[in-house]
Amino acid sequence: MISQNLKTILDTLPVGVALAAVSKFQPISSIEEAYNAGQRIFAENRPLEMQQKFAALPKDIKWHFIGHLQTNKIKYIIDYVSVIESIDSLRLLEAVNSAAKKVDRIVDVLLEVFVAKEQTKQGFSPEEIVSLYQNHFLHEFSNVNVVGLMAMASFTDNTDQVEREFSAVKHLYDTVNSKYNGNLKTLSMGMSGDYKIAIKNGANLVRIGSSIFGSR
Ligand SMILES: *Cc1c(COP(=O)(O)O)cnc(C)c1O
Repeated sequence: MISQNLKTILDTLPVGVALAAVSKFQPISSIEEAYNAGQRIFAENRPLEMQQKFAALPKDIKWHFIGHLQTNKIKYIIDYVSVIESIDSLRLLEAVNSAAKKVDRIVDVLLEVFVAKEQTKQGFSPEEIVSLYQNHFLHEFSNVNVVGLMAMASFTDNTDQVEREFSAVKHLYDTVNSKYNGNLKTLSMGMSGDYKIAIKNGANLVRIGSSIFGSR
């Protein structure tokens, strides 16, 4: 079931688009099934859950953190996390930078962009992102590598709106690279319900959970 779902999705992904299998709330056995089918990138949104799964599973898994990260919980992931996709404030970026310094790592991170209509979603506005680059603010962080942007679209059936939101993030990504030498490589957009629209609008990393593992 899981391996078949995985294959079905992988078959639809164009070359150059990577898949993070969102395994939050799923048991170890489900992750093992996806791992045995070849999947290596898994994404979690709770630090302690990720730590337990990291300890129990093969060490060549790349763990992406995709949830709101409280600064007092960075310690549960900083040793092994591959990418923190959900940097949603400068305070968090600073805290991740100093935690990474302590364990002598340089950690890849994505800045989360807020474009959806819902107030509950976190992140930087596009204007804030531009100003971080304009002011060379990210140069101050020696132990984080900002390698891309992450975004979620509004939860709506209105595909035009979803498309507009993804395309705004792609525009921001291109602007940061062309005007500010941002050197961004990863554009993480798209979940089970909207990943095809995200890819059409330039995503090169999609985060898919329920279409692989079933409902949570
Ligand atoms: C849960 C989650 C996903 C995956 O959602 P599905 O609809 O299950 O594919 C993707 N991104 C983030 C940030 C999530 O929290």
